[in-house]
Amino acid sequence: MSSLLHRARFYSTAASLAQLDGPGFNDDIPEVAFVGRSNAGKSTAINLLCNQRGLAFASKTPGRTQLLNFFLVADRDRSWGYLVDLPGYGYAASSGTTRAGWDALLGGYLRERRQLVGVVLLMDSRRGLTELDERLIDWVTPAQKPIHVLLTKTDKLNRTETRRALEGIQRALEGSPHTVQTFSALHRTGLEDADARVLQWFGAPPTAWPKKKPQ
Ligand code: GDP
Repeated sequence: MSSLLHRARFYSTAASLAQLDGPGFNDDIPEVAFVGRSNAGKSTAINLLCNQRGLAFASKTPGRTQLLNFFLVADRDRSWGYLVDLPGYGYAASSGTTRAGWDALLGGYLRERRQLVGVVLLMDSRRGLTELDERLIDWVTPAQKPIHVLLTKTDKLNRTETRRALEGIQRALEGSPHTVQTFSALHRTGLEDADARVLQWFGAPPTAWPKKKPQ
């Protein structure tokens, strides 16, 4: 059996908070947002979770990088939720005004969106927690939305380095409701845990993964 997330389809894009109050965006379907520094591995993770090569790369096409991109996860019976691909942050090159608009959209969405049930925060395990990530966590925490950190690209680290990176984030999140796991799209490690977290936030049944063959 495959994950419900494999059914994700591009739904729509939103360019402003006002648009989110309008037609097409104000149903009561839960939303899980994906966010992180540019290059953290967000598109790759979304594509892997949805088992579709090109899905989130649509968010990287010109004109879509500053937008919220919505992917609908639905089956015959029900719309379970939206995966919302948020613009990557940390591009020093963005001009002042673009930057301000970007912050307002991303910040406003994360703080005010009623349908938002959880945030998946992608962090490159080689960089760990950056100042921008900390700012994002501090911004989201008062909204009482849980954050689940995917510490990505752990195939680039050895076991000790991976453990250290994980412990570093665990320490930083101590006392908060937020959680962290390691993830490698290349090795497909952490995929089942990430899938389970998103489906749980959607209130959807967990994936019955095929049993692994004994080695
Ligand atoms: P985004 O900007 O956060 O959407 O990042 P991308 O998904 O485009 O990934 C940025 C770069 O990291 C690309 O070259 C990916 O191929 C690479 N990448 C993403 N995930 C992994 C991973 O798990 N392992 C390795 N080694 N590279 C990865």
